[in-house]
Amino acid sequence: MEMSQLDWDSLDILNLPCFKVSGRVIRNGKPLSPTELKKQFGMPFRIAASALVNIPNIVRNDKRVRAEIRENPFIPETTFSFDPSPEAFTTTDGAGTIQINAGIYFALDGMPHTITWLDSLTHKDTLKIGELMDLEIPQEIMDEVDAIMKVWYSIHRTGWIDTSKLNLGEDLFLLQQMLTFVTFHEIGHWYQTVYLPGEWEKLIRITKNYLISWLKEDSHLDTDKAMRRQIRLLLKDPEVFEHWAHEIQADMMAFHACLNAFGGGWSPELKQTTYIAQATTLSVLQMQEVFYAYVLKQPLSALTHPPSYIRESIFCHIRAKEMKISIKDFHLKEWRIGFIHRLVMERILKLYGLSLKD
Ligand SMILES: [Zn+2]
Repeated sequence: MEMSQLDWDSLDILNLPCFKVSGRVIRNGKPLSPTELKKQFGMPFRIAASALVNIPNIVRNDKRVRAEIRENPFIPETTFSFDPSPEAFTTTDGAGTIQINAGIYFALDGMPHTITWLDSLTHKDTLKIGELMDLEIPQEIMDEVDAIMKVWYSIHRTGWIDTSKLNLGEDLFLLQQMLTFVTFHEIGHWYQTVYLPGEWEKLIRITKNYLISWLKEDSHLDTDKAMRRQIRLLLKDPEVFEHWAHEIQADMMAFHACLNAFGGGWSPELKQTTYIAQATTLSVLQMQEVFYAYVLKQPLSALTHPPSYIRESIFCHIRAKEMKISIKDFHLKEWRIGFIHRLVMERILKLYGLSLKD
């Protein structure tokens, strides 16, 4: 039987009434309507949307969720947006709604050399950390970073994302995994709206204890002394501490949800999919931090969201504790692929930042 266009449209998960697609996007000089956006660029969102469609099933069996929600579970209202703001967000007053701001992740399309080069490094059998620190960064990679900053600057200036040259062919899989990671992070925040009183606080208390142990164990803060002092001072503010605990909690929930969703809970090879998606997401966020600090010269505030390298450092600390292994073993044996990716990417961005300072 042949299917009409109408039938195909009704099969599209993004057409469910709980989902909206929005964004100021132009292609070949013409603004795209939400329907056109969905048709042309909906692909990276569909995997994330299926994660959201699963929520009623998960919630129904979770004893930490309030009885009235478990009896009538629902998919949270979600907007998939092309907004290039660095943060996605979830409202947690009343019925939680989710907005996934995906604009910045499309930068992946402008990083083919960087992605291939990082991939070749992470798959080498032996690679010493010293070698990574001395590795010469190819010029084409610095050029890619520079081109992305210019695209972001034009979006910042005009308020429009131009997708005329966007071609997501090879990077689609990675982009889908990254947006799923971001979506699971937001779902992590959303859980706060459906948990029984006390259950969410219980989780947050555990995360706060991890934050405290991370602060105590100096060696895990691989930052310079001045930076350490600054972070300690920042976290003395109870509001900042609370915000950071929620962000880290959402990160940990996203990590575990991705591990399950990508099959890494049972396969060491598939586990790498989560590590790559997570490391690449952190790197794009760090590129945004560089963009705000060095291009716009308005550094992003750390009052509500920890900077990406801090998120990475706390994640590694917690995960090593959960796995009962040393941080060194976690970096070099377990997270290895993520560790190499982040180490090299941090060097690239540091060099790029320095080049702009001159
Ligand atoms: Zn968050």
